[in-house]
Amino acid sequence: MADIEFRVVSDRREGLLLELGRLIVASGFTLQRQRMTRGDEGVVLTMVVRGPEQNLLALEDRLGSHPIVQSFEATSVDASAAATAAAAPPPEPARPRTLMSDARPETTAAAPDPGRVEALLGALAREYPDVFNRVLAFEHEIAPAHREASTRYAGTRLGAWIYKRDFTLGARLNLSDSVKHIALPAMRQLLRGTELDGEALRIKNSPFTGIGLHRGASCHFLRGCLEGLLNEPGHLGRPRILETSCRNTGADACVFTFAA
Ligand SMILES: [Zn+2]
Repeated sequence: MADIEFRVVSDRREGLLLELGRLIVASGFTLQRQRMTRGDEGVVLTMVVRGPEQNLLALEDRLGSHPIVQSFEATSVDASAAATAAAAPPPEPARPRTLMSDARPETTAAAPDPGRVEALLGALAREYPDVFNRVLAFEHEIAPAHREASTRYAGTRLGAWIYKRDFTLGARLNLSDSVKHIALPAMRQLLRGTELDGEALRIKNSPFTGIGLHRGASCHFLRGCLEGLLNEPGHLGRPRILETSCRNTGADACVFTFAA
């Protein structure tokens, strides 16, 4: 279960809560509380909703693209902090939600910044497959301590969304066939220069190299996408995905390997 706060700006008040409330309920979420105010930008509707994590991206997509909605932001809510907000001492800063603990990098203590990631994901779902300008802007904006974990985590969420959108009705494939028939075509939607290289994927034109934001292998977002694509089916477990060579370190292509 996820608790999310949506902030919606619209130019009209009539029917706003009713129409968006329908989308929320149809996506399996419940409205916990809401508040409508009038600001300089228009009518501002703030809603806290609770519902299944796996439907969240689709819901954000529907809300963000609804014609009544002029602008849309989503942030995660730490439910326990919200419930005790009235009591002193002040609540701890919101902690990252543990919805996809397998998405956490093993090698860094820094955690994803979940509020920033949620805001990014709605835009990625709307603009897919042209997502890289958004992701690159996100990587530039986010604090360096959160950068790798946040971009990789955003990648896992997008990968899971792509799997559900395009591959969920397919046969149960083993890891090698999943790389060929799920990961490869999905990555080609994002980057046409993706090729199969034995059991690995080879990407010649990753936009995440040479941008001065990362040391070493730098395509954390792409690695996250692959993790989301291959973790989401469930029956593969959590394959180990590594970027074993990267143009950011002078290689001629970025290569991702897969192990069960
Ligand atoms: Zn790379």
